[in-house]
Amino acid sequence: MQVTPTIHAIRHSFRIPIAPGITFDRFVYSYVVYGDTIILIDTGVAGCENQIFEHIRSTGRDPSEIALVILTHSHPDHIGAARAIQQTFGCSIAAHPAERNWIEDIDLQNRERPVPGFTDLLGGPVHVDHDLVDGDIIEADEAGAGEMLVFHTPGHSNGSISLLLQSERALFSGDAIPVAGDLPVYDDAALSVKSIKRLRGVAGIRVLLSSWDDPRLGDAAYQRINEGLEYLRIIHEVVLTSHNEGITDLMELTKRTAAALGLPPQAVNPLLARTLAANLQIKDSKNLLEDY
Ligand SMILES: [Zn+2]
Repeated sequence: MQVTPTIHAIRHSFRIPIAPGITFDRFVYSYVVYGDTIILIDTGVAGCENQIFEHIRSTGRDPSEIALVILTHSHPDHIGAARAIQQTFGCSIAAHPAERNWIEDIDLQNRERPVPGFTDLLGGPVHVDHDLVDGDIIEADEAGAGEMLVFHTPGHSNGSISLLLQSERALFSGDAIPVAGDLPVYDDAALSVKSIKRLRGVAGIRVLLSSWDDPRLGDAAYQRINEGLEYLRIIHEVVLTSHNEGITDLMELTKRTAAALGLPPQAVNPLLARTLAANLQIKDSKNLLEDY
């Protein structure tokens, strides 16, 4: 799907095996930025390289033109196809240094952050060629599409980054902004709030390109950012309520929270438990959005 003159969005549908016979349907976006060469932002899960290659060919370009793959962070649905793309076309891979370990050593990631279906979602580890840190500018001549500004937006993960393509005021937010009503995933609730507020402060966003949401244009971009913040506030409140009622077992708290948020039964999984544990870390905060 063409979003702007230079940006195309590719929606990848995939299934996460949770238990024998039980799967969780998900989707994730990757983004193609067309210039003199091609920059790819995130790669979907293992196997998504074919969809990306086909899409690029369908636009009259060739996937061998991919010069740079930027990984917004290390999670399987973002890096899953990176190895295949890198091995096929020899492009460079860039990510925040705080994500490098988990991109280059997926066994380590699996040990430290086990998620359902992890090994099925990943095509293997990949070497990170370039570090991207807050304030970095990816130069125009890399893509011909304009400068891209890097924001370090931790919370969802330590080294999550967002990117602003200045010429089109297009903000790629990775997984930094939770989608209200969807499975919330973050490691640090306070940092998430800070990062989302920082993105809200970016003036003149014309299109918000999140990994877990359809592209949002103009005012709808800021609306989605505010809805993400409000969702974090509600989750925190629900967790505190269960905690104050004496629920000490994390899985029980996860079940109750999922029900209160209207999430499907499959959402009661280690990922959601890890997210809610992050809320418990700051249980003394009574008003999340004011405190951070
Ligand atoms: Zn993620």
